[in-house]
Amino acid sequence: MKYKQLVMDFGRSVMRRVRSSPDDLALPRRKTRLRHDPLLEDFANQLLKSVGCRHLQVRVFWNPGLRTTAGLAVWSDRMVVLNPKLLEVSAAEVQRTLRHELAHLLAKHRVGRHRIEAHGEEWHQACADLGIPNEARCHDLPFKRRRVMRKFFYACPECSTILARVKVLRRKAACIKCCRKHNGGKYHERFRFRPIERSETVAA
Ligand SMILES: [Zn+2]
Ligand SMILES: [Zn+2]
Repeated sequence: MKYKQLVMDFGRSVMRRVRSSPDDLALPRRKTRLRHDPLLEDFANQLLKSVGCRHLQVRVFWNPGLRTTAGLAVWSDRMVVLNPKLLEVSAAEVQRTLRHELAHLLAKHRVGRHRIEAHGEEWHQACADLGIPNEARCHDLPFKRRRVMRKFFYACPECSTILARVKVLRRKAACIKCCRKHNGGKYHERFRFRPIERSETVAA
């Protein structure tokens, strides 16, 4: 009973958070600073206790830098990391993902030194114990893949193959096709990609 109440209270508090501070959700895309969540952490540890696991203490963080990953479990740090975009989906999704990741830690804790499959039998059992018996290994959340603008273009002087890059090419890089064809697959200056203007990439 007490446990159920805890879950309900938790759900409400997340929804409150969503409504009261929408600015928290306008997150910088590239930052990967972890934000500690003592509320969720406390909940996670209570949940572990409620399934009879008293010797595992976990920490819970949000990582605004996550893109399409809903959550992560880091065994070495006994840590769950969640994607703040989950807050935009629903409190239920936060719950589900938290338990999914928690199940990874619980399963690992239970087997001790043995190695286990990430989404194997032990994990399924842990999921069931944590209240998500039909959990699938992958989430299907509507997280959009970030479209990256490729701003830097290069061309092979030999075959005119174009290389589009998000960042500037810092190392010497040559056309692999031509290096294979003419130089046994080894780098040759002759086939080194040369920077070109974007307009040159438009087919004539
Ligand atoms: Zn997983
Ligand atoms: Zn080439």
